[in-house]
Amino acid sequence: MSRPYSLSQPLRLDAVQHWDIETEVAVVGFGIAGACAAIEARLAGATVTVFELAAVSGGSTALSGGEFYLGGNGGTAVQRAAGFEDATEDFREYLMMAGGANADEARVRCYAEGARDHFDWLVAQGVPFKGTYSAEKCLEPLTDDTLVWSGSEKAWPFAERARPAPRGHAAQLVGMGAGRVIMEKLTERVNALGIQTRYSARALALVADDDNRVHGLVVRIDGEPRVVRASKGVILCTGGFICNEDMVRRYVPAALKCPNPTSAGNDHGAGIQLGASVGGATIHMGEFFATRPMFPPDQLLNGILVNTTGQRFINEDAYHGRVTQYMMRQPGDHCWLLVDNAIFARPWVFQDIEISAAGETWEEVEAELGMPAGELVHTVTTYNRHAAGGQDPLWHKIPQYLRPLVEPPFAALNFGGDAVSGTSFTLGGLSTLPTGQVLTPDGNVIEGLYAAGRTACGIPRWGDGYSSGMSLGDSSFFGRQAGRHAANT
Ligand SMILES: Cc1cc2nc3c(=O)[nH]c(=O)nc-3n(C[C@H](O)[C@H](O)[C@H](O)COP(=O)(O)OP(=O)(O)OC[C@H]3O[C@@H](n4cnc5c(N)ncnc54)[C@H](O)[C@@H]3O)c2cc1C
Repeated sequence: MSRPYSLSQPLRLDAVQHWDIETEVAVVGFGIAGACAAIEARLAGATVTVFELAAVSGGSTALSGGEFYLGGNGGTAVQRAAGFEDATEDFREYLMMAGGANADEARVRCYAEGARDHFDWLVAQGVPFKGTYSAEKCLEPLTDDTLVWSGSEKAWPFAERARPAPRGHAAQLVGMGAGRVIMEKLTERVNALGIQTRYSARALALVADDDNRVHGLVVRIDGEPRVVRASKGVILCTGGFICNEDMVRRYVPAALKCPNPTSAGNDHGAGIQLGASVGGATIHMGEFFATRPMFPPDQLLNGILVNTTGQRFINEDAYHGRVTQYMMRQPGDHCWLLVDNAIFARPWVFQDIEISAAGETWEEVEAELGMPAGELVHTVTTYNRHAAGGQDPLWHKIPQYLRPLVEPPFAALNFGGDAVSGTSFTLGGLSTLPTGQVLTPDGNVIEGLYAAGRTACGIPRWGDGYSSGMSLGDSSFFGRQAGRHAANT
């Protein structure tokens, strides 16, 4: 009978009888973090083997919108061509705000200073970018344009502290899902560089000595466990844990309010468990990205969100993931988007959205929603009075989306968790240095072990601050960092 291997218990080095496979750097997972780690390690001269559970490369990256959050140093070539100067200090400040209390200053600085050159590196690997700018607010560009506003840059409070610039850089594809193009190109590059790839290869356990220094791993290939020696390091890039119901219930139960995994299906937390098995610390495990997008069409952002007490609770023009975090925190996870006839539309993502109440007056809507008399009417009246003058003194929505809601009939669209089914993925993971080296709870480096992508807790580490492109930007950038460091040890 073959030995039972465990993600949560390493195989001890002295129990290894022979190595089935030998490599210098072993990369586990062939999404974007794994691809970039492998390429950079190979470019630094190491022999590299990638082990991927699926029969093909791609992971969740291949399903993604293909947007990278990049800027700084005066702007990428695309930002500058579109007339946007993006100072490193503004980019850094935005990223610090996006991390909130969880922000990691050293990681943010490293990223803010290196992201512009990272764009050039992606281009050099063959990832196509058309180089054009689209001013249209979108979830993902439907055109093949590159540069988009993909976060809360223009919204309060971000715009007060960081000069706004569009920083979403989407790979070239007409329509959604440009992540597929990215993974095709990076896979071609991996193959061209002579990196070994083993598909249908599931990591089962790490190999570590009694001091928890990592020497390799055990991988199931063709139904058999193979013991792999990785003399320079193992880089864990297996994605997050949104598909692992036990881990979600234990660490991030709030994500169940947006129950559809934003994932290709293999975000089972394997890498996080492997890292923890040798003493790796896990951090910010309760943080997650979630969305129940109210737009497109963006005319709906002229509406206002209210909770069961008839109160507004967010500037509706903030990034849709931030808005969703605020939605989920309202009493009973109930909230409605109030619209009038002039802006009424059905959100693209929720074409069958429930209209909870409608009326010729806001008093009728208020009564139908069962709210305390006068509360909703007061909220709308106050909003309308200020919006007429282009102001939103309570929540600071930008003038572009300020329009009094005065044209009957009026309606309340149900954006509560009982009515719309959002999607989510996890942001917590292994604690690492910007080099990708995995840390213990005491801050000591675990020799021979690295993590990147959603297996690590990276730049995006606060659901309220996420912007589209932060995960691919972080995964690719810090994947490279890990690959380079491992190769040079
Ligand atoms: C529809 C959608 C749209 C998105 N749009 C964007 C966007 O535009 N911009 C952005 O920044 N983010 C976006 N995201 C999020 C982003 O795609 C992911 O967070 C990111 O791709 C994570 O990269 P990764 O390399 O960590 O993981 P992945 O790309 O998921 O790669 C992990 C790989 O590890 C493999 N694996 C898992 N377990 C094992 C194991 N035990 N052994 C071996 N291999 C294993 C998996 O099969 C997978 O191939 C989107 C996600 C989705 C689903």
